[in-house]
Formats: sequence, C-alpha cells, structure tokens
Amino acid sequence: MSINLLYSGKAKDIFSTKDEDVIIAHYKDQATAFNGVKKEQIEGKGILNNQISSFIFEKLNAAGVETHFIEKISDTDQLNKKVNIIPLEVVLRNYTAGSFSKRFGVEEGIKLETPIVEFYYKNDDLDDPFINDEHVKFLQIATDEEIVFLKEETRRINELLSDWFRQIGLKLIDFKVEFGFDKDGKIILADEFSPDNCRLWDANGHHMDKDVFRRGLGKLTDVYETVWEKLQVLK
Ligand code: UDP
Repeated sequence: MSINLLYSGKAKDIFSTKDEDVIIAHYKDQATAFNGVKKEQIEGKGILNNQISSFIFEKLNAAGVETHFIEKISDTDQLNKKVNIIPLEVVLRNYTAGSFSKRFGVEEGIKLETPIVEFYYKNDDLDDPFINDEHVKFLQIATDEEIVFLKEETRRINELLSDWFRQIGLKLIDFKVEFGFDKDGKIILADEFSPDNCRLWDANGHHMDKDVFRRGLGKLTDVYETVWEKLQVLK
C-alpha cells in the first residue's frame, strides 16, 4: 500500500491511502497560536486531540450530521473521507470571548441571545481575515445557497454540542469548524473538533481549552485529559 504525505498542517499531517477517496489524518504533538507565531511541542497532545475529535465526530455522525469521519485507527490516526476543504473558518459564538471581545470592546462571557456565526477566509498570508457573505461570494468560495447551508448546519451542530457539553458541566463558549465538498459535491463537516478549536469553560469559569496555551494558564494536556475524562459520561 503506498502512503504519501499529501499535506502537513500545524496540528495534523494528511496521508493518502490506497483508496483515493480516503485519507489518514495523523494528529501531531504540536500546539500553535497566533497564526503559528507561538509554537510548542507538547507530548501526548496528538493522542488526546485524536481521541476527543473521534469521539465527537462519531456522536455527530450518529446524530445525523454528515461528516468526513470514518474511524479511529490508532492512538494518533483516523481515517477520513477525502474532501476539498472550503477555505472558510466558520466560527459560532454562544458567549463573547477572544477576538469578538477585542473587536467590540466587550468583556468575555456575555451570553449572546442568538448565537452569532462568522466567516474567516482561510489564508495564512492574509492572517485569516474576517469576511462577510458578500466577500465569500466575491471570492467564489460558496454560492448563496451554500452559505445558507453552512450557517444552518453550524447552528445545528452547535445545538448538539452545546447540549453534550452542558451535560458534562462545561459551557461551549465558541468554536470553529471547517467544511469540505465530498466526492459527490456534497458539503460535509471536516477537520477536527477538540479543545484546540473551541472554548469550554467549567462552572468556575476555568478555561478548559487552548486558551490555556495561548494565555499561558497551565498545562494543556492536563486540561485536555480532564475534558476527555468528562466526555466518558456521554458514552
Ligand atoms: N479558532 C480556531 N482557529 C483559528 C482561530 C480561532 O480554531 O485560527 C477558534 C478558537 O479556538 C475559538 C473560536 O475559533 O474557539 C473563536 O476564536 P476567536 O475569533 O475569538 O479568535 P482567538 O481569540 O482565538 O484568536
């Protein structure tokens, strides 16, 4: 079986398999923040992210969300359907935090009556700029119909995730997801879902996510391990 590295990302390497519609996502022990400016090797992170993301994607598949996830094949690796990634970071916010708080000069942790969906153009050279629907069309990334689907699907995913995290005592503050076109041209959820790309606060307002790394608040793998342990209740 010939396996080739197709793409090396900040947190994952993507390899081909003998099936051209399937890839292997290998989760690395690397944490980055601020568009790669802060970078560290963190032993055990790849295993935790693969475990958590596999668990969440399995639950999303079971709940009827179409995703790229096929199966977890080792501690650090999973099989995914090959997709053409849509170059958008779709962010959903239930509470104010991070760049939203900075942009609008508001404190973190204010509940948003209606969750807000935002698009960022995935382009490292441009620093992933914040863009609106019309920019998405200008860039020919998605049609009107696809934009509506991306937003509605992200809200549906949010309802499921918010409920699951609520059941384990964590508040889903915000998250980022990515979608791709599968071989039939259908838009499905791709990438990963882990504390790397969401914010989770516990009942005491402790950060249980990558802000621990971004803001130097503690040991990232301890926090991810706690999230993983809590998720076991949902098995
Ligand atoms: N996020 C991400 N990748 C990015 C930027 C943001 O996964 O490149 C996630 C981040 O973890 C948070 C949400 O998207 O859960 C909103 O992030 P925000 O825009 O507040 O940016 P940040 O403050 O993280 O720079």
